[in-house]
Amino acid sequence: MATLLDGRTLAATIEGHLAEVIRAGLARAGRPPGLAVLRVGDDPASGVYVANKEKACLRVGLRSLGCQLPATTSAAEIQATIERLNTDAEVDGILLQLPLPAGLEEGPLLAAIDPDKDADGLHTLNLGRLLKGEEGPRSCTPAGVMALLSAAGVELAGKRAVVVGRSILVGQPMALMLQAADATVSVAHSRTRNLADLTRQADVLVVAAGRPRLIGAEHIRPGAVVVDVGIHRLEPDPADGPGARGRLCGDVRFEEVEPIAAALSPVPGGVGPMTVTMLLVNAVTAWCHRHGLPAPNPADLRG
Ligand code: NAP
Repeated sequence: MATLLDGRTLAATIEGHLAEVIRAGLARAGRPPGLAVLRVGDDPASGVYVANKEKACLRVGLRSLGCQLPATTSAAEIQATIERLNTDAEVDGILLQLPLPAGLEEGPLLAAIDPDKDADGLHTLNLGRLLKGEEGPRSCTPAGVMALLSAAGVELAGKRAVVVGRSILVGQPMALMLQAADATVSVAHSRTRNLADLTRQADVLVVAAGRPRLIGAEHIRPGAVVVDVGIHRLEPDPADGPGARGRLCGDVRFEEVEPIAAALSPVPGGVGPMTVTMLLVNAVTAWCHRHGLPAPNPADLRG
């Protein structure tokens, strides 16, 4: 039976540490850290994510500077808002909530964010810093996966890691982080042949394919550590009556993999809470740098 990689508990531990860092630095900084979450339009799923981020800011002691623009806002107006936030001395982190309404290109807008305020770690400069092993805000989801692995004492040096998915948001930075931790990394994608042959070689398997229940027992080497990044809401069961919401699932068939893996992250309660926490880590770290304060200690981020 697999050990559960419990993201909720680890996220709460890290949040406690961040709250301490803020308390200790508040007098010197003269203000709490500020995170601006910029939302364009009213995508309902984004609304839930933004609300979760705002609640997390409140819990930890950051100021959440929500910024909601109508779906009809032009790219130039969004860019002007980002530029205003870039120069706002109260703002340490900026997050542009994706997806944007149809017709708006995210690339140039993400590029307009000051790289030192890039709470999501997705700016080209910060991805380059990751590639070169330089300090900088890290992409939140893969950084959350690394923290989960580290907290569980998973040794990566010399291990065989396989990442399923090669997106800029998750798969690519994940592979770079695992490689930086001295794992030997392979990346699979939709054109990979014989996926199970590859994934069965993994000591550590990170699945970010965005395909509900893609990975089952046939993909897993017994004793492997499996991290499920995917998150999907299934169709509601008609037996649950009208108005019922479908349950959440990941890219991994939990019930098949749990008996054979050494460790497995659940959905929900695995990677999701860690992603939000890593956003706060990036904003608090930027605030510390701005005010000459000691930044959160990576060792404390392991729970
Ligand atoms: P994405 O941009 O759609 O990328 C999916 C990747 O998986 C692509 O590289 C794709 O290959 C690959 N892929 C698709 N089907 C495959 C298959 N059958 N076999 C092997 N590879 C396959 O998705 P994403 O943004 O990386 O997100 C992935 C999942 O993680 C989604 O479910 C998303 O909701 C979830 N997510 C969760 C969190 C969290 O906090 N928990 C955060 C971010 C994302 P190609 O490149 O060839 O198309």
